[in-house]
Amino acid sequence: MDIRTGTGLDFHRLIDDEARPLLIGGVEIPGKRALLGHSDADVLLHALADAILGASGHSDIGIYFSDKDQANKNLDSSVILKKSLALMSERGYRLSNADITLIGEEPRIAPHREKILERLADLLAIAQDRIGLKATTTEKMGALGRSEGVGCLATVLIQKD
Ligand code: MG
Repeated sequence: MDIRTGTGLDFHRLIDDEARPLLIGGVEIPGKRALLGHSDADVLLHALADAILGASGHSDIGIYFSDKDQANKNLDSSVILKKSLALMSERGYRLSNADITLIGEEPRIAPHREKILERLADLLAIAQDRIGLKATTTEKMGALGRSEGVGCLATVLIQKD
């Protein structure tokens, strides 16, 4: 069996914008704040897509979805994630599990955890018990500690039978 691991790391700035949806893991988190980015800025899906691309020997999502391309403005990040899965599949791999850690003081993830897990299981086509979803703070240290943004670290294992 051929198994490989990959990591993805992403950060997006948090802004006050009631009109812009705040998306984490493909789920809209209600509130007055939003993540800033050229796409929909879903920090979790970006980290996950990069982990999948890394595991399957590809470059980062910026190569496939340039932030200079107007076609990618407010792009639904599930499109990015699906592209990473397709590139992985082309090389004969399937996703075994994903472990995800969100980093920041806000938004609070706990109330939305189940919904995010359901959405991720659906997008990744794996069982929910193959997805770890955790959140941590930086104990108020640094930019993330001042709620200036949200970070996400994702690790995946892929395998070819
Ligand atoms: Mg990003």
